[in-house]
Amino acid sequence: MGDCIFCKIISGQIKSQILHQDDTAIAFKDINPQAPTHVLIVPRKHIPCLAASGDGDELLLGHLQHVARDLARTLGVEAAFRLVTNNGRGAGQTVDHLHYHMLGGRRMTWPPG
Ligand code: 5GP
Ligand code: ZN
Repeated sequence: MGDCIFCKIISGQIKSQILHQDDTAIAFKDINPQAPTHVLIVPRKHIPCLAASGDGDELLLGHLQHVARDLARTLGVEAAFRLVTNNGRGAGQTVDHLHYHMLGGRRMTWPPG
């Protein structure tokens, strides 16, 4: 946790372009955007990945989706956006602090790579 980039963003040690913050979550622009809109939605609590979340995290997990819902509206991508979490190295996870990518502003393909 001490070396966690997202914990450092949450504490303000590392600067980021914050779009939303509240008591339990923060959302900021991805430093390497994969779409015109690419926001990371992150709980303040250090949970390594979705698979490591606990039963007591149910409200927090639901809250992250509502932050995504509200941001999609604010950012004008409500009609078409993708919300995704990469769980584990094999799925592309590089930062071990739970986060959802919200991507929008371009045509999405399926299946993702
Ligand atoms: P993952 O690969 O774990 O699903 O996603 C991690 C994301 O964090 C990547 O899309 C990467 O670009 C982003 N990222 C890594 N370091 C930083 C940083 O210092 N600031 C911001 N804003 N994004 C970061
Ligand atoms: Zn962390």
